[in-house]
Amino acid sequence: MSTMKKASERNNLSRRQFLMAGAAAAVAFACNNARAAEPAAGITNLMPPLPYPENALEPVVSARTIGFHYGRHHRGYADKLIKLVSGTPLADGSLEKIVASTAGKPDQAPLFNNAAQTLNHNFYWQSLKPAGGGTPPDSLRKKIEASFGSLDECKKQLFDAAVTQFASGWAWLVSDGGTLKVVKTGNADNPITAGMVPLLTIDVWEHAYYLDYQNRRADYVTALIDKLLNWEFAAINL
Ligand code: FE
Repeated sequence: MSTMKKASERNNLSRRQFLMAGAAAAVAFACNNARAAEPAAGITNLMPPLPYPENALEPVVSARTIGFHYGRHHRGYADKLIKLVSGTPLADGSLEKIVASTAGKPDQAPLFNNAAQTLNHNFYWQSLKPAGGGTPPDSLRKKIEASFGSLDECKKQLFDAAVTQFASGWAWLVSDGGTLKVVKTGNADNPITAGMVPLLTIDVWEHAYYLDYQNRRADYVTALIDKLLNWEFAAINL
């Protein structure tokens, strides 16, 4: 089994575990959120409901931003993906499988971009939580200290990656062969395609912060790291 496949399957497992743990809360809040994309094409976990109400991340991220981000941008990627895979063998696969099988293939770029953006956003919503931030669970904190020297250094690298990513993209905390690292990816790219295991992510596309922070990406990233990061989710993915 390839490293990428192992990483992808491990990521699948982590996400499943986390979704199961949060299923009750997600169901409770589902009726408050925008309609989740119908799994018409049979893709598993295409676009789960938000794990919290749209206004739960205020004042760091407004309900208006979440409404557009989840309800329009994220949904747009999922809807386009359904159209692209309908009637193809990929229609009954997982997002991870579509991402892995289309990465690095220019003729598959629309499929890759929409599948990866759907997957990245599913991961992003879980990387945040109301009253987040603070200190990671012990298991993750020890790994962070072993890899970065300190939690502050890890946060600094995450901040730097998020702020210096040119134009649209993502900053990630990942496990790479057992060592934790911070990486950044452009547009829809995901570290899974490089064999890494994502632990959490920060969306730095302008649609993630422009309504609340305009051009002040650094303020958005600082507030997100200090007040919303879901270290428990990252620990589950470890
Ligand atoms: Fe986004």
